[in-house]
Amino acid sequence: MPRATKIVATLGPASSDADTLERLLRAGVDVVRLNFSHGKAQDHIDRANLVRECARRVGKPVALMADLQGPKIRVGKFAQGKIMLETGQPFVLDAGRTELGDELGVGLDYKELPRDVKPGDTLLLNDGLIVLTVDTVKGDQVHTLVKIGGELSNNKGINKQGGGLTAPALTAKDMEDIKTAMSFQCDYLAVSFPKNATDMEMARQLANVAGEPWRHKPAMIAKIERTEAIPQLEAILKASDGIMVARGDLAVEVGNAAVPALQKRMIRMAREMDKIAITATQMMESMIVNPVPTRAEVSDVANAVLDGTDAVMLSAETAAGKYPVETVEHMHLIALEAERAHEVRLDADFTNKTFGRIDQAIAMGALFTAHHLGCKAIIALTESGSTALWMSRYNIRVPIYGLTHKAGSQARMALYRNVRPVLMPMSDDRDQALVQAERLLVNNGLLKPGDTYAITCGEPMGYPGGTNMLKVCRVA
Ligand code: PGA
Ligand code: MN
Repeated sequence: MPRATKIVATLGPASSDADTLERLLRAGVDVVRLNFSHGKAQDHIDRANLVRECARRVGKPVALMADLQGPKIRVGKFAQGKIMLETGQPFVLDAGRTELGDELGVGLDYKELPRDVKPGDTLLLNDGLIVLTVDTVKGDQVHTLVKIGGELSNNKGINKQGGGLTAPALTAKDMEDIKTAMSFQCDYLAVSFPKNATDMEMARQLANVAGEPWRHKPAMIAKIERTEAIPQLEAILKASDGIMVARGDLAVEVGNAAVPALQKRMIRMAREMDKIAITATQMMESMIVNPVPTRAEVSDVANAVLDGTDAVMLSAETAAGKYPVETVEHMHLIALEAERAHEVRLDADFTNKTFGRIDQAIAMGALFTAHHLGCKAIIALTESGSTALWMSRYNIRVPIYGLTHKAGSQARMALYRNVRPVLMPMSDDRDQALVQAERLLVNNGLLKPGDTYAITCGEPMGYPGGTNMLKVCRVA
């Protein structure tokens, strides 16, 4: 069995040359993340082009995910690049400060912070490594006492424990970045810090309008990293195509200890609602500097796979680490091994489920049949990829091949667990298309004489949502 769980890798200085990028793709990267928190528009455009070029050379489908910065609150820059904060000292976060920061205080890009905090609040800097307690608020200045000190360098993030920052999810910069991301037709658009479904609907609207010249509509990923998003999960999922368990910011907002249970709940909910889930942040953190992961990281990746995540994500490990390719190689092996241990309980999964649409019922029928007959493959001839998506929401040991003539659908399916997207120029004639599909898999060594497989398609062909036929075949 090939690996079912997908790997998302973030590009950065350690991975933006063609050679490293190709090695990353060969090592198993399925989705490349462009992080709009860093770099200029042109950098992202160049990288997007390079990724697609490398993907063509390597000959595998790769999806591009543009990840918006969102209203991440950051401290400004320091005169010396960094300072040392001592526990117990006062420190001022000053929205009005224009000069560079020092030991006494620093500027802020988010001007609303003084209005969003009150005495007694806890602020966490640099992913929670530094803790400040708000003492008083005077105009633009938030006077704090350092509760846990440490080194603080330029542009580190600030979170408020428990949430409650009023910043809207889409900043003016995000709106510009959406246009940039649409200019290269990113397959996935990740929105940072959405609070509710409206944030996602607004982002989708903006993306669809910006993508209009290419008639391109990206799939929308909601990054769950804010306290306020948790009670809104169901509505956010409905308004999105998937979620990211964004454990970095989420952990500082809700507290570290709450995250593992939330991760399991989010992945379960996403799958139940036919949405995608990505598990992100610090999965292989130690490999930024070490050639092997820690035992805890190995378990973390394996457990995310067992939770049913569609993808595991790498951030600094591939963007700025010393061992980007090795990290992906390790992640690949961990995921493969965990999948082997993953229990298949399709009959139990289907208990009390009803499928009200013809195309979905056919997809589920294919899954059930292929599982019980021990088929070697499920083939979905698909326009939009939705048949493959439905099939991929259940854990089975039969690989799903999503065959499409649309490059956009092919790229999108690269993130679906257990789906192998294949681009195939397809005959409008159903019987011919079925023959083409079988030949393609046989020629690629994925099926051999005597193997059985289940195949779904629409009759007539070529209409999204038109799947209405299931056929079980044996290769002659
Ligand atoms: P970020 O999002 O890397 O853009 O902050 C992921 C996270 O917060 O975990
Ligand atoms: Mn984040």
